[in-house]
Amino acid sequence: MQKWQQIKARLTAGLARFMQGRYGADEFGLFLIWTSLILVIVGGSILYGVPALLGTAGWIYSLFRVLSRNKSRRLAENRKYLEFTAKVRKPIQPHFNRFRQYVNRLRSRNKYVYFTCPKCGMKLRLPRGVGNVTVTCKSCGSKFEKKA
Ligand SMILES: [Zn+2]
Repeated sequence: MQKWQQIKARLTAGLARFMQGRYGADEFGLFLIWTSLILVIVGGSILYGVPALLGTAGWIYSLFRVLSRNKSRRLAENRKYLEFTAKVRKPIQPHFNRFRQYVNRLRSRNKYVYFTCPKCGMKLRLPRGVGNVTVTCKSCGSKFEKKA
């Protein structure tokens, strides 16, 4: 077991040394990797396999970007990608945030009791097991009794 940990530590250090001065991952890189993966998986049997070929090319390019030492060039690419996709991301951002909030609430539902303020509808939470407490709303300041 000790030996395995030593090997793991050496591998981690080696990887860190290898990645030193290299660009790594960014938003554009993650987008490339995922789209390439999807293209390779679903594109192999359609359109003479051209989508899969494009996916493989995208995969190689994303790897090239991760290992690239030309950081300013990669940053410029990423900036262009972010500018280009801003129009698409803007309208879906609120939905995405709401979805993430919902997931967070689901994950911590055994730690907190969630409820809404009866006056203003603000979403509030209490740690489970605190008993009967007087809640002061963060948003409108109204006070009410709540059991959690
Ligand atoms: Zn309120």
